Amino acid sequence: MSADTTRLDAATLASKIHAGELSSVEVTQAHLDRIAEVDGEYNAFLHVASEQALAAAAEVDRAVAAGEKPASALAGVPLALKDVFTTTDMPTTCGSKILEGWVSPYDATLTVKLREAGIPILGKTNMDEFAMGSSTENSAYGPTRNPWDTSRIPGGSGGGSAAALASYQAPLAIGTDTGGSIRQPAAVTATVGTKPTYGTVSRYGLVACASSLDQGGPCGRTVLDTALLHEVIAGHDPRDSTSVNAAVRPVVEAARQGAAGDLTGLKVGVVKELHSDSYQPGVLSSFDAAVETLTKLGAEVVEVSCPHFEYALASYYLILPSEVSSNLARFDAMRYGMRVDDGTMSAEQVMAATRAAGFGKEVKRRIMIGTYALSSGYYEAYYGQALKVRSLIAQDFDKAYEQVDVLVSPTSPFTPWKLGEKVDDPLAMYLSDLCTLPTNLAGHCAMSVPSGLSADDGLPVGLQIMAPALADERLYRVGAAFEAARGPIVA
Ligand code: GLN
Repeated sequence: MSADTTRLDAATLASKIHAGELSSVEVTQAHLDRIAEVDGEYNAFLHVASEQALAAAAEVDRAVAAGEKPASALAGVPLALKDVFTTTDMPTTCGSKILEGWVSPYDATLTVKLREAGIPILGKTNMDEFAMGSSTENSAYGPTRNPWDTSRIPGGSGGGSAAALASYQAPLAIGTDTGGSIRQPAAVTATVGTKPTYGTVSRYGLVACASSLDQGGPCGRTVLDTALLHEVIAGHDPRDSTSVNAAVRPVVEAARQGAAGDLTGLKVGVVKELHSDSYQPGVLSSFDAAVETLTKLGAEVVEVSCPHFEYALASYYLILPSEVSSNLARFDAMRYGMRVDDGTMSAEQVMAATRAAGFGKEVKRRIMIGTYALSSGYYEAYYGQALKVRSLIAQDFDKAYEQVDVLVSPTSPFTPWKLGEKVDDPLAMYLSDLCTLPTNLAGHCAMSVPSGLSADDGLPVGLQIMAPALADERLYRVGAAFEAARGPIVA
């Protein structure tokens, strides 16, 4: 019973719960049991909140029994939350030692929306420290393992959320995507993840990595589940100064429409610069097959060129560290979390000792790069130039979207690599973000949907679908059509 329940998708679970065929308490308990049974192997969760999740589930069951309208389309379906959104009833660590055991005095807007939607939060998921990384190996609490092969990385920074989905510990999850942290983990675990248009999901209570790039988003095992969650978490928030005051995009309707399998009239652009011989051959062949499928569904496929994408990585890895160096200054040993103080130290010594002990290597590396890039005499040459490139990338996108409705590429140039393989080579790690970064720099939206298993190693490959700002519904139409045509992915 419990094993079967954890295999169901969120849409099915919701309809069964709302019809009174399954209770939310039994569904939530089944997932808690599954976590207890298997998470020792995967390390997807940093905290599990059984009591709170069951209490939220019981409230949904009470409402169903009383004949009340469900609080949302997903009421009663439990979820795994990336440990970067604040929660008042469990710690928020961001995968960092510096925040070990820290409990926020307020809930993030996204957390409030989940609670109001009647979605029980099973717990908080593992991540690269402060969302910096592509493998979840930068977590201070040990790496997460890929359920497809536990000797391999689950992607990052949201590897915990993706692994929780892929190992049936949760039917829904939340991630954040600054440069690919929702899409790349989705790709390497054969799950679905969307980075919504920048500003459409509130950042209030999302611990900042790089504020001009960060965006929370939905993760699921199907495109429809991801769409249902997308509509729950999106919406204008006056507490986030960069929140977009626009209606929530009709992504659920688009996913349902797409599932009918007709893409006639749709124009798809294959980005020439995101299809390179340096990518893994099995990734390229899976991508080429996906493009065939889109053509069979009626889409018109053309090649487009975005010449400045070549500089996206260099631009991102200056802009992100610059914002990181300023955002992470708040961890000063005075206000949050850990404090190293032997009683004889000055305030400055306490701050330095705490930051030295509390931050991991990658976070320190980025703080140093960012501080250098922003320092006087270098600011124009590094940060200023990176911002110019950012504008050129946005212009490339604009030109491309004059010709096509969506763009496609592989999500990641490689399938999941072995744990440990790239930890000593930051640049090799950064290269896995090559295809995802441009979308963040432009503030647009993109999705990763499984495209199949690589012919060279049998591991998951993701298809990335990109669309302009506030056109998120296009991702879902194409994603759902592709998912239906592709069929299930079985190892
Ligand atoms: N892997 C990218 C980085 O390390 C993206 C991180 C993210 O999206 N949070 O910066």
